[in-house]
Amino acid sequence: MSYIGRLDSYSLLDEVRNPLKANIVLLPGDGIGPEITKQAALVLEKIAKKFGHDFEFSSHLIGGIAIDTTGDPLPQETIDACIAADAILLGAVGGPKWDDPSAKTRPEAGLLKIRKELGLFANLRPIRLFDELVDASPLKREIIEGTDILFLRELTGGIYFGESGRSGEGDQESAFQSMVYSVPEVERIVRLAAIAARGRKNRLTSVDKANVLEPSRLWRQVAARVMAEEFPDVQYDVVLVDSMAMHLINRPKDFDVVVTSNMFGDILTDEASMLPGSLGMLPSASLGSDGPGLYEPIHGSAPDIAGKNIANPLATILAVAMLLRHSLNLDTEAESVESAVSQVLKDGLRTADIARGSQAIGTSEMGAAVIERLNR
Ligand code: NAD
Repeated sequence: MSYIGRLDSYSLLDEVRNPLKANIVLLPGDGIGPEITKQAALVLEKIAKKFGHDFEFSSHLIGGIAIDTTGDPLPQETIDACIAADAILLGAVGGPKWDDPSAKTRPEAGLLKIRKELGLFANLRPIRLFDELVDASPLKREIIEGTDILFLRELTGGIYFGESGRSGEGDQESAFQSMVYSVPEVERIVRLAAIAARGRKNRLTSVDKANVLEPSRLWRQVAARVMAEEFPDVQYDVVLVDSMAMHLINRPKDFDVVVTSNMFGDILTDEASMLPGSLGMLPSASLGSDGPGLYEPIHGSAPDIAGKNIANPLATILAVAMLLRHSLNLDTEAESVESAVSQVLKDGLRTADIARGSQAIGTSEMGAAVIERLNR
């Protein structure tokens, strides 16, 4: 059964594929990007060795470093390497050095362009709480404990890509930005979310603003049809975006998979990323219907701590687990990375961002500790 081209080769479907050879592109980027990507690549090397795979790595320029070196935040050579890859692991881009508003280009332009070039229409952001870090959450233990949500945010359509403009002057000036969604754009993200739900607790929530917005009404209509015709076995419900903002704080553990449009997903996933209490623990994946997936931590380049060996590499290491699962179909390998991360936390190891006053270890020590647990 093929729903959406190459997406059916992701392990979200129950197919088994075991490529022993994979070409993985590393895009370290700026700030802490190179430090955390290095640890994540070492974890991938360890996985290859342990499970008998052959992973080939090549490192390419993106962001501020690419501007400094070539004048372009996403050189053609990087695009070509990404297109030819099986999967891409990104650190982060940006920093004060490239913040000049009058500059011709910015590091973030490289990030938007790579998503567009590769047609990465689905952003997957798991919000999972490690038991050992429950007390780092700003919410009470009884509300947050057991939270495990997978967000799917539509990434290449909607209001962020709609027509925009300004007219008039002074007090008469006005501006507009249009929100457009087409049937196929809604179908493909809802299908992917429903497939993901089948591999989890079999529950899908679609978030929209259908009481006010026409594109949301189309979204709701198409989502309902796809679910009824193709996924009658998946428990499905619909929530308005304003209610969802409340439910996330009030009863986060009631949700399994959540699918929503670009702007609503942008806002809700940032809200949800605060539930576990630390940016340094959350990975994300961006997938398209063809070509490689792109995996990254959700945090930025953290220039305030760059080069000090104190950044938390665990979000990027958890992004490696997503890469193994979604692009290479290596579920067992993905689970072993996730349980190694759980184990270092159980063993009390913490980087400064999650140490809460207790003794902290450095970026490379944390990476080495994960690798050591993979040896067991
Ligand atoms: P940030 O996520 O880089 O940092 C926010 C705070 O969290 C900082 O105090 C930082 O030290 C801390 N932090 C972030 N990641 C951490 C980690 N792994 N371990 C420990 N602490 C960590 O956000 P910001 O400061 O708003 O942005 C810095 C730069 O990153 C900006 O140029 C921004 O545009 C860019 N940015 C890039 C991406 C991306 O590449 N995907 C995403 C967001 C921001």
